[in-house]
Amino acid sequence: MLPVDRVFCSLSKEMPDMTPCMPILDTYHTPRLLGLKLREAYLDSQKMAKAQLQAYYRYQVDGLEVGLGPSETPENMLGCRVIYPQDDVPIYGEPPIKELEDIDKIPLPEVLNKQLIPIEILSKEVGDKLFIAGVVSAPFEYACILHGFSQTLRDLRLRPGFVNGILERTTEISRIYGEALIRSGAHGIKIKDSVAASTIISPKDYRTFAQPYEKEILGRFKKMGAKTILHICTDSTPILKNMTETGADALEIDYIVDLKFAKALIGSIVCIKGNLAPVQLVLQRRPPEIFRATRDAILSAGVGGGYIVSTGDSIPRDTPSENVLAIVKATRKFGGASSLT
Ligand SMILES: [Zn+2]
Repeated sequence: MLPVDRVFCSLSKEMPDMTPCMPILDTYHTPRLLGLKLREAYLDSQKMAKAQLQAYYRYQVDGLEVGLGPSETPENMLGCRVIYPQDDVPIYGEPPIKELEDIDKIPLPEVLNKQLIPIEILSKEVGDKLFIAGVVSAPFEYACILHGFSQTLRDLRLRPGFVNGILERTTEISRIYGEALIRSGAHGIKIKDSVAASTIISPKDYRTFAQPYEKEILGRFKKMGAKTILHICTDSTPILKNMTETGADALEIDYIVDLKFAKALIGSIVCIKGNLAPVQLVLQRRPPEIFRATRDAILSAGVGGGYIVSTGDSIPRDTPSENVLAIVKATRKFGGASSLT
């Protein structure tokens, strides 16, 4: 089976010949593989794509992910200042939406051809054999960027109608970005809703302010024929069932969730992607321990298929390559269909 077919098979909750391996290799770690500082990769579409391709050449994973490349004005995203540290992930400045009337000042984005260069390169170079996921922020995550994280959390109580107004606008933004990535060759879209974690908002708030909007855009992407993955950081145990109601093909769950519990609860409804601890395990431990943890994850969630081996979140920037390779080697050793059916 080709890697892309393996991933499609798992996303359909079936058992491929081999459990696919697709740890979260995003622009946090991959620039290192080319000796680049993170800022260089974030601000150069060609370098961003080359770093992702290098992750495949180095690790032989079954799929890659990439977001949009930089716009003409990368320091300004939808009216929000973005700071690119030399060698770290971007930081968002003063949120542009303070009052209701500010929502209309946020223009619906126009995706430029140059922003699609990374997905186009990946699609052209390896899209016939690897699964290529485009990545966008979910509407609630964009709302927290554009209205400010703490203010958004306060306004869930104080001005819920205002927050819903912002979410209607950010749903359009996520939709436009995701649709552009699909049109440029992405097999699927992953939406990230980091701030919808149960460590940050209550399950009730998740069902009110995050889930309906996730469902809306995931539905749009599915209509275009794309597969869909929903990522929520840290703990999502109390909302796992609600997350499946979004219609996502896979839930990307983080290390705090008990993988066996998740498999028993939702494994018949949705594909599970996860959930090796990126920092405590993959960055900080040695390959033999990572190898054993990957084996345990496969035994917990891989039986019968519908599982993709992954980290629970981004592989950290300075993770040694042999640690990532330990995940891949364990998957190839223990992930075969014959031992999991
Ligand atoms: Zn995350």
